[in-house]
Amino acid sequence: MKNSLRSRPALLWLVALLMASIVSPVLNAQDKTAPRPVMGNQIRQIKGNLYRAGNGAWHSIFLVTRGGIILADPLNKEYATWLKQQLAERFHVPVKYVIYSHSHFDHAAGAAVFADTATIIAHAGVAANMDGRYPQMPGDMIDRNNNGLIDREDIMIPTTADPGICGMSASFFDQIDLNKDGIVTPAELQADIAKPDLYYSERMTISLGGKTVELMHPGNNHGNDMTVVYFPEERVVFAADMIADALVRKDIRSLPSACGPFDGTPLREWIRSYKAVEALDFDIFAGGHGDFYTKAEVALPGQFLEDLYAAVDQALAQGKSLEQMKQQIMLEQYKDWAYYQRLREKNIEAAYLNLTKFRE
Ligand SMILES: [Zn+2]
Repeated sequence: MKNSLRSRPALLWLVALLMASIVSPVLNAQDKTAPRPVMGNQIRQIKGNLYRAGNGAWHSIFLVTRGGIILADPLNKEYATWLKQQLAERFHVPVKYVIYSHSHFDHAAGAAVFADTATIIAHAGVAANMDGRYPQMPGDMIDRNNNGLIDREDIMIPTTADPGICGMSASFFDQIDLNKDGIVTPAELQADIAKPDLYYSERMTISLGGKTVELMHPGNNHGNDMTVVYFPEERVVFAADMIADALVRKDIRSLPSACGPFDGTPLREWIRSYKAVEALDFDIFAGGHGDFYTKAEVALPGQFLEDLYAAVDQALAQGKSLEQMKQQIMLEQYKDWAYYQRLREKNIEAAYLNLTKFRE
């Protein structure tokens, strides 16, 4: 009796420990710039010869043809090295094309691993973002102190304001600050990103081994060099950090991170670019974050942006202040979405700043 009473708290403690070890990687995965494997690498078939491969909450996609493999997003050097070995063992054909969904380091890094056999393709905007100057940055990471550099202070302001939502972790900053001077230069930021061999501007078709893959620039949204990858035979679409951002998990119903505000792209353009994806003829959206989604589910994040835009636009026309908007725009129909409590006001503020800045 005495023993069993004593052992019960011990057992509870063990359960708590186990739960903590299960839960904490998931929490870490919500850090949108976390660079390293969080839940392990994996490969999962989507349809036919089309597969999703993943590194924690980050995913790439690849199509196997008899002429070789077409891969979108190498993610990072360690993952790309692992993936190259897996592909060689399982499919016995080389990677012939690597496509970048956009130039951000947490999706585009690592392609040098495939450079011996592959042609790297990206939207023309990637050329400008890799010309030696600072690129368009995600997560509201901008040169706030106007010293012409991205330094620790610039990064830590958005990181501290919205931990796990905007910015990047201090440890990741230290990791990419190769010479430890407290400044991340464009070269340090893009050290693991290989320059593309080929650029396109609106649309491009890749043919390989009897298969075709279509690339489409949907317009600007999260980045200014976005590519949507469409697999017409498989009726599958891939895109990263748009439609489903790094906060999205199983359910697509999740308020957007809205950093930046909205990454410096007018909300109207976001909405237009989402509609360009919705216009594609597909059954499955298998993007860089989240799960697999139907076409009906893909329409939901765009509808959220439209509703947010309409509400803030109307409040501006009525002369309301930002504080009044935060109190009165409840977006009731989204109260069951992930991050509703945490990010509703932030989304209103981001839309307010966006509409004020890009007034039409
Ligand atoms: Zn991104």
